[in-house]
Amino acid sequence: MEVPQPLQTLAKTGAIVAGGIICISFAASTTIKVIQSATEAKRKSTAKPCQGCKGKGFHICKLCKGNATIQWSPLYDPIHINPCQCPTCDGHSIQRCLNCVGKGYY
Ligand SMILES: [Zn+2]
Ligand SMILES: [Zn+2]
Repeated sequence: MEVPQPLQTLAKTGAIVAGGIICISFAASTTIKVIQSATEAKRKSTAKPCQGCKGKGFHICKLCKGNATIQWSPLYDPIHINPCQCPTCDGHSIQRCLNCVGKGYY
């Protein structure tokens, strides 16, 4: 079965239009990315420092209070309390601020 001539032309036109739409959407997404990065840069310049960590992005570990070790006994025996590496901060004494996810600003 042969495809009539007008339909072939229509198909070609359709392909061109579809290609054009893809090009436009690609350009649009690129533009959106540029706008997003510009907005991000603007947001950074006007960003307020985080109150939770005072702009540092981290704060002293709440579990070990900056000691990097905790008093922990495996037997709950007060005589055998050993200092153990803090599991929350892995002995770094600091925790990433959850308020700003370590960025230090909003
Ligand atoms: Zn913070
Ligand atoms: Zn800790």
